[in-house]
Amino acid sequence: MKLYNSLTRKREDFIPNVEGEVKIYTCGPTVYHFAHIGNLRTYIMEDVLEKFLRWDGYKVTRAMNITDVGHLTSDADTGEDKMLKGAKREQKTIMEIAQFYTDAFFEDCRKLNIKKPDIIEPATNCIDEYIVMITKLLDDGYAYEAGGNIYFDTSKLREYYVFNKHEQENLEVGVREGVGEDSNKRNSVDFVLWFTKSKFEDQELKWESPWGVGYPGWHVECSCISIKHLGDKLDIHCGGIDNAFPHHTNEIAQSEAYLGHKWCNYWFHVMHLITDDGKMSKSKGEFLTVSLLESKGYDPLIYRFFCLQSHYRRSLSFSYDALDNAAIAYDRMVSRIGALKNEGAIDESVLAALKDKFSAALANDLNTSLAITAVYDALKYDTNDATKLAAIESFDEVLSLDLIEVGKRASEKAAKGIDNSEFGEEIVAMIEARQAARKAKDFATADEIRDKLSEMGIILEDTPAGVKAKRA
Ligand code: AMP
Ligand code: ZN
Repeated sequence: MKLYNSLTRKREDFIPNVEGEVKIYTCGPTVYHFAHIGNLRTYIMEDVLEKFLRWDGYKVTRAMNITDVGHLTSDADTGEDKMLKGAKREQKTIMEIAQFYTDAFFEDCRKLNIKKPDIIEPATNCIDEYIVMITKLLDDGYAYEAGGNIYFDTSKLREYYVFNKHEQENLEVGVREGVGEDSNKRNSVDFVLWFTKSKFEDQELKWESPWGVGYPGWHVECSCISIKHLGDKLDIHCGGIDNAFPHHTNEIAQSEAYLGHKWCNYWFHVMHLITDDGKMSKSKGEFLTVSLLESKGYDPLIYRFFCLQSHYRRSLSFSYDALDNAAIAYDRMVSRIGALKNEGAIDESVLAALKDKFSAALANDLNTSLAITAVYDALKYDTNDATKLAAIESFDEVLSLDLIEVGKRASEKAAKGIDNSEFGEEIVAMIEARQAARKAKDFATADEIRDKLSEMGIILEDTPAGVKAKRA
């Protein structure tokens, strides 16, 4: 497989540390609020990467943290802990907020067919590991104490700016207006490994440490959780592009200073989902969540399909028009799949050729839109339906678009005639009861139901394809 590696800024052959095995680490969500669909774009593309590697025969182990402490509103280690902000907003404890939004995140993932990583570790579970790493960094001269906090000293590294060869003065560490820089830092890009109460008195979650009661910085959690579960050599580290600097840069700095050798070989960064008015936000404008899309009548898998139509290394513009187009394309695709009959014997050589095309698309730096084209190719191929279905079923192990199931449902619906499901279960049940009454020649009951529906503002039209409901 060829994979673009942010570390080298090149497409490279993917070669894992151990033949046939892949260790992947994913930066998990900060659980202070719902995930927006931009966050979920990143998790969808990471899910495709993981599933393709499995499909290709690798044994994959993937670990992910849940950020429930230490991620501040400013990447420059200033501002408030996002978790504290969430707890204040909802007048709940941090642990209540963390549990609620962790569950909400995995519920969104379930709806989007994003597989749960093999290992999921909340940051608050690993305090002992952070203390071990920070102690060694202090002992080895990579860290210093200032103003009660422990900082990583970036000047001690031979190379720090690995992803973006920036000039130092061009570096912006995301200091927001109104939030001052941290004057304890010896170098502006140094970062906090451990905060103590001397800086944040009102931090709700605090732990004992050799440097006083406090809590860990955000970056140290990912290094420790990855090393704890995946060992000291990682194959692929994933995340959204905003995490490349400073988060991932700092992860590399502290992990390699701690381990004394190279840590992770491939860095997989997903570009952002953006809206017409710019960045996605959880506080300004429309807060785009999976539930919001559902409330507007979109199946979450339409959003997954929309994401797969584009390459992960291009930023993607979200609009409802674009989503509508994805919905039309998805519906057409699944209805063609639903029309296939499971007939004939699978032609193994055709199946292998179809799979080769699909595999070549994803092996080319995860070209998901070409992988979707491979589904159309299978539909068009001059072969029997059983072979087409076998190919599409196999592709869907990676695409996870429920192509066969949704296709089946679409064909059942088409056979049944008109679909009134948009009016809700109660109305559909009443329409069915009226049809049953008419079939039984119980016209009095049938008329009674029609009148009741009419009082509810629903009028019925009897068409050759079936009964069509309309709002009066
Ligand atoms: P957070 O919950 O803020 O820690 O972010 C979770 C994941 O979403 C991280 O991998 C981020 O890099 C990623 N992310 C944040 N904003 C976007 C966006 N607009 N589009 C795609 N990914 C994003
Ligand atoms: Zn991380």
